[in-house]
Amino acid sequence: MANTRRKMVAGNWKMNGDTALLSLFKAQLKSPENVDVVICPPAVYLSESMGADFAVGSQNISQHESGAHTGDISVAMLNDLGVTYAIIGHSERRQDHGESNELIGEKVNLALNAGIKPIFCIGEPLEVREQGTVFAYVQAQIDAVLDACGEQFFDNSIIAYEPIWAIGTGKTASPEQAQEVHAFIREYLSEKNEAAQDLRILYGGSVNASNAAELFAQADIDGGLIGGASLKIDDFTVICQAAN
Ligand code: PEP
Repeated sequence: MANTRRKMVAGNWKMNGDTALLSLFKAQLKSPENVDVVICPPAVYLSESMGADFAVGSQNISQHESGAHTGDISVAMLNDLGVTYAIIGHSERRQDHGESNELIGEKVNLALNAGIKPIFCIGEPLEVREQGTVFAYVQAQIDAVLDACGEQFFDNSIIAYEPIWAIGTGKTASPEQAQEVHAFIREYLSEKNEAAQDLRILYGGSVNASNAAELFAQADIDGGLIGGASLKIDDFTVICQAAN
């Protein structure tokens, strides 16, 4: 069966960028006809990001709905602005903030309940790849989210497979390495719900203007989650075009 999944390219600015960069992106970045383009700026720039030719995502959400949680941002606030996506479970949040699989499951569930589309991140550290247990590792990350969300996970979620050893290191997974894990993820999820055939699985980890096309040409790679290269308008434009 032909793959009819629409490609997506999401830029994760992490704790980078400023109003000048945002103005440049708003003026120059165009979403190609067949690609959903999303920019995930730091939270302070979310409001300013609206109204451009790309969709907007947050880099995190609170697991709480409202109240005494200093520094947190709720899904209701994202809805208030018209933010449509949220990166959840990025490896840097898992590392810097000790976010567990269970907490990430709660957050994905909360996002789905609020109508925010989660870009749910999974991926293994180098030791796990070297031990040859990548599938079991990502399966455990997925299981925790399925336990929290149930069948609604399949309606509006996006998965980003990001091997940690490839994030910000310049070491990209080869297209074959990435495709192998993407195919596993899709097969595993398809056993639970046929809708997994339509679920988008993005690759992230040192995607750049030179390697994007080959990665996006793989059967189960439906676009990318882009860190460093999403801060450069020319490179990011090439990456978006590579998905078209
Ligand atoms: C990321 O932050 O999700 C990422 C993939 O970063 P980079 O593209 O810089 O490796």
